[in-house]
Amino acid sequence: MAKKDELRKIATRVRRCRRCHLAKSRTHAVPGEGASNAKIILIGEAPGKSEDELGRPFVGYAGRILDEALEAAGLNREQVFITSVLKCRPPKNRNPKTDEIEACTPHLESQISTISPKVLVALGRFGAKGLIGAMQKIAELRGKKLDHNGVPIVVTYHPAAIIYNRGLQKEIVTDLKRAERLASK
Ligand code: SF4
Repeated sequence: MAKKDELRKIATRVRRCRRCHLAKSRTHAVPGEGASNAKIILIGEAPGKSEDELGRPFVGYAGRILDEALEAAGLNREQVFITSVLKCRPPKNRNPKTDEIEACTPHLESQISTISPKVLVALGRFGAKGLIGAMQKIAELRGKKLDHNGVPIVVTYHPAAIIYNRGLQKEIVTDLKRAERLASK
C-alpha cells in the first residue's frame, strides 16, 4: 500500500481511537500531517486548544514559532511530517501522563515505520520521552547522539518555550539545521 494511503488509515484509526480516557474530553484527535515521504518527522507533545478545535497540528502560537524556525532552517511544512506523542489534548493542557503516552505510542510508531524518515526531531521533554522513554532536561539531551531503532533523534525545545524565553528560538533553528544536515546525508 502507498505510504499516503497507509498514513490515511492510521489517521482514521487515531480519530476513532478510545485507548485512553483523553478520548472523552477531546473535540478532535490530531493525527498529524505532512509529506508521506518526509525525511524528517517533527514530534511535539500533544494538541493544544487550537489544535483540538481544528484537528490539525501546530496551528496556534507555537505553530507560528515553528513555521518561522523551519523557514530559518531552510525547511517548510510541505517537506516534513508533523505529529505529536499524544494525539488528543489533555484537559487544560496539563502534562501527558505515562499511561496516556503508553496507550498512544503505537500510533506514533506506525507513522514512523510507514514514513521511514531519516531523522526524528523531538520537540520538548515529552516529545523526547515518547521516543527514548526517559524524562530528561532538553539542555542535557540537545546535541547528544540518540536514535530510535537506528533512526537518529535530534532533541530541541518545544516552540511554546519561546513564549517564556525568546532566545531559545535561535537554538531551535540550530537544531533544525542539524536535522536537515543529517537528513541530507
Ligand atoms: S490520546 Fe492517543 S491513545 Fe488516547 S484516545 Fe487519543 S489517540 Fe487514543
